[in-house]
Amino acid sequence: MSVKTETQNYLNYINGKWSESESSEQLKSTSPANPSDILGHVQASTKQDLNKAVEAAKEGQKKWKKLSGAERGNLLFKVADILERNIEDIAETMTREMGKTLPEAKGETARGVAILRYYAGEGMRKEGDVIPSTDSSALMFSKRVPLGVVGVITPWNFPVAIPLWKMAPALIYGNAVILKPATEAAVTAAKVIECFDQAGMPEGVVNFVTGKGSVIGQGLAEHKDVTAVTFTGSNATGNHIGQTVAARGGKYQLEMGGKNPIIVADDCDVDLAVDAAISGGLKSTGQKCTCSSRVIVQEGIYDKFKQKLLEKVSEINVGDGLEEQSWMGPCATKEQYETVQKYIEIGQKEGAELVYGGSPVPSDSNGYYIEPTIFDQVTSSMTIAQEEIFGPVLALMKVETVEEAIDLANDVDFGLSASIFSKNIDHILSFIDDIEAGLVRINSETAGVELQAPFGGMKASSSYSREQGEAAKEFFTTMKTVFLKG
Ligand code: NAP
Ligand code: MG
Repeated sequence: MSVKTETQNYLNYINGKWSESESSEQLKSTSPANPSDILGHVQASTKQDLNKAVEAAKEGQKKWKKLSGAERGNLLFKVADILERNIEDIAETMTREMGKTLPEAKGETARGVAILRYYAGEGMRKEGDVIPSTDSSALMFSKRVPLGVVGVITPWNFPVAIPLWKMAPALIYGNAVILKPATEAAVTAAKVIECFDQAGMPEGVVNFVTGKGSVIGQGLAEHKDVTAVTFTGSNATGNHIGQTVAARGGKYQLEMGGKNPIIVADDCDVDLAVDAAISGGLKSTGQKCTCSSRVIVQEGIYDKFKQKLLEKVSEINVGDGLEEQSWMGPCATKEQYETVQKYIEIGQKEGAELVYGGSPVPSDSNGYYIEPTIFDQVTSSMTIAQEEIFGPVLALMKVETVEEAIDLANDVDFGLSASIFSKNIDHILSFIDDIEAGLVRINSETAGVELQAPFGGMKASSSYSREQGEAAKEFFTTMKTVFLKG
């Protein structure tokens, strides 16, 4: 069997085989640009399906960990090549399934290829240290070893890059994985798994089980044989997963929401700051965890900045991400579309001034389009200054000093990414020191992640662990200390 049946029924991948769920039920995947466009159906799997995947993963991992890092790496290089050959198809599927524009979807898929290659190379790098023993005739060293079976639970906003930046390090360090993708982007994820299948991954090393979060996600969190769970998604779900895994003594990693600020200082290059607010705030329809949502502007430049921002935002084309002229696609889901509208209503009720957008964009297709939206006169106690909206909504806030701006920037539960636009080295240095964020960006938008560097947030944005780059080794391995004497 292949990834799907002739009726576009996408299958689970367990123990190296594509299979239907024993439930014989499916979940529908539709396009947010045109909800009557059905991409296909994915399996509504059960706990029994998941148990089979865990059994397969346990068996598969025993052999997988015996391969050398170089051998595992060679397989990941193969997966990368296959993914690269399929960029057009996978990116188009992503755009249809969750709405981001085609250039963004292609960029994300290309990033997936680079992630696979980066971690493939990791198979040839060091896995421990020699530590001098107090016994001069002994050799003492540390050695990184795999955890076993890793559960991977991912959101819909980066359906290729996030599964891969979790799976690739998990695999290279010798773990087996079970991916439970977001249902809203599960067809795209199935096509990524197909690349692993075509590369000839050994049985049971990569498993793919679709279904409801409350069944399969919850099942992974609870299963005693799933040593670790890595999660990206909302805070409510993440915290619940963390508690569930911790209660059984498992390892977990959570990457969650953001309420990311841009500080615009009087002395900055205003055009650069405007471009960053637009790109960081509105690309991907504001659905990146690193999106800017609060724009904190010093009073001396406020009017100029606002005027330029309003000019620039009026040039944005909203439309189907498959069409070349579209700069911003729809919200990814009906639920998200309604949530964004609810926040726009709350913003107005609480006294923020709506200065641009704020309404759905009518379309022939009933797509979930919303105008780019800008609020002025936002204060920190307002809901739209505190809660993650995950939509194309910017909140403008005015301050007198950069010091005040940093305090305001920190006045939220989240701490994922933050940026400042300034040419003043003192402002920049105090921002680096005092901002409560895992990603600190100067004269650059809040979004933008490099796969070779650690990624993660502070405060409520993460469980304080880091993903990507070398940092991934911390989570996906544990350590043996070996004391060897002849
Ligand atoms: P979500 O609703 O939390 O879903 C994330 C994943 O968890 C999905 O696979 C979901 O499955 C699953 N899930 C749902 N309920 C579950 C439960 N009770 N137990 C176990 N798993 C469960 O998040 P989302 O709406 O997909 O994504 C948006 C959120 O992700 C935003 O808050 C955003 O900030 C965050 N995000 C964070 C980062 C980061 O790195 N910090 C990156 C991207 C996105 P179903 O799809 O089947 O419900
Ligand atoms: Mg969809």
